[in-house]
Formats: sequence, C-alpha cells, structure tokens
Amino acid sequence: MTTTIVRSISDLRRLTGNWRQEGKKGAIVPTMGALHAGHLSLVQAARAKADEVLVTIFLNPKQFNNLDDLKNYPKTEAADIAKLKEAGVSAVFIPPATEMYPDGFNTTVSVGGLTDGLCGEKRPGHFEGVATVVAKLFLQSGADLAFFGEKDFQQLQIIRKLARDLDIPTEVVGCPTVREEDGLAMSSRNALLSSHERQVAPRLASILSETVEKISAETNLQALLDEARSDILASGFREVEYLELRSEEDLRLVESINSPMRLFVAAWLGQTRLIDNMPVPF
Ligand code: AMP
Repeated sequence: MTTTIVRSISDLRRLTGNWRQEGKKGAIVPTMGALHAGHLSLVQAARAKADEVLVTIFLNPKQFNNLDDLKNYPKTEAADIAKLKEAGVSAVFIPPATEMYPDGFNTTVSVGGLTDGLCGEKRPGHFEGVATVVAKLFLQSGADLAFFGEKDFQQLQIIRKLARDLDIPTEVVGCPTVREEDGLAMSSRNALLSSHERQVAPRLASILSETVEKISAETNLQALLDEARSDILASGFREVEYLELRSEEDLRLVESINSPMRLFVAAWLGQTRLIDNMPVPF
C-alpha cells in the first residue's frame, strides 16, 4: 500500500473527498509528531475500524503556552513518515503553520467547563489551541472517526464535547495509554529526559497505580493524596502541579466514590513536565 504525503488543505480535501465518493470510511489520528508506540496504537485502532487512515503531524504553535517548550519539542519528520508507512496508513497530512494559520487568522474555539481545572488551569490557552486545531482538522478532513489517547484524558473529553457542541459528525474514539515496560506512559517529551531522570520517571506511574489501588469508600482521600504527593517529590520530581481525583465524565473534583473516576497527575522532572492518569477501580 502506498502512503500519500499531503501538505496543503486543498490536496487533503481532494484525497478525503475521493474516499467518501468511493463509500470508504475515513479515520483521522491527529499528532504533533515525534511518534512512538502510543501513537502507533491509535493507528492500529483506526485501521481496525476504518478503510482509510489519515495521520496528521502538526506541531501546533497555538497550544504551546511556553515558547521554549515549542522550541525544544522533538522534531523527527523523516522517521515519523517511515513509521507511518510501515504501519500502513493511507495518508499523512503535514501542513506548514502558514497553511493552518494564514495571515489574518483570528478565530478561537473554546470549550467551557471541562477546561477549567488540571492542564486547563496550569497551561492558559493550551486547550483553546488544541480545540481550534482539532476543529480545523475535523472540518478539513471530514473524517468519520477520530482516535485520541487516554494519556491526555482531559483533552479526549474536551474533543468529545467540541464535536458534540459544534455538530461535527466525527465520532471520537478513546484508546488506552501505552506504557514502557517499567510503566512510564509513552510521551514524545520522554526523549527530553536525562538518563537519571529517565530512571526516576516511572515512579510517577507506580505511585499513581499504588494510590488508585488504595482508594475505597473508607479511604481518607486527602491523606492518601498528600502521601502520594510527598512520595512523588521524594522520588526526585521537582514539583507536583496537580494530583487530583476527578469524575471521568465531567472532570469534576470528587470527594467520595460514586461514579467512574480517575486520578490525574502533572509533575515536573527537571525541565520536563510529565502527565499521567489512571482509572480508579469502580
Ligand atoms: P501528541 O502527539 O502528544 O499530541 O499525541 C497525539 C495523540 O496520541 C493524542 O491523542 C495522545 O493522547 C495520543 N498519545 C500520546 N501518548 C500516548 C500513549 N502513551 N498512549 C496512547 N496514546 C497516546
């Protein structure tokens, strides 16, 4: 199978328009590149449900609230394309920033409520950037299905809401977090860790998993979260931005166990910010 590389919106529309005319179901997998096995798991899930799979690689400047973060983000386009060819995707859309945001671009998509806490609070403007680019990608591609990782669970819920609220008929599918053998959630940013930091990093996942296992109706939640926070710091993280138990559905803070919930964490290891989340057995 050949993989088509597309860099303009008009070529993308032509390609996906052809798929629709042929009665094919199309899936989109949006990424920022520096692809790893987590991204490729989304591609496999997409291939299982759709006839044609489009992966997008766009390092979206609007979702970076920190210029250094954007500058340091790993960029590996040639290797990414090779992986996607190997994975059998139909097309890769790699637009330049000027194609997505031409001069005079001045529209922002903002999802209320779900963006209030967690990364929404800590990274001002981040989810507006995400929602704006994902709305554009959905409308440009007209994809029937879209695949996103639970690794970024808040993002997944925001995108579901965005599609629902704007009547975009793209079905949003969430996929489980893919982890390294030592439990560390795969992330493009893991490439930025020093070898010492890389050894410390999996403690975040193990503390998260130990903590969710301890949660039950009788647990003193605050004491448990305080202990987990101290453990994360003691293992070598510089700062815990948040460690919170929230309902899966609407991401509200929860104080008692009465609906599906997740424990969410963001913590700094040196100059790198890592996030993770895990469901609480319910
Ligand atoms: P990114 O390139 O970081 O914007 O991620 C692109 C997509 O891959 C998003 O839907 C992420 O949630 C998803 N993703 C990133 N890391 C993982 C992972 N470890 N497991 C599953 N999905 C992931």
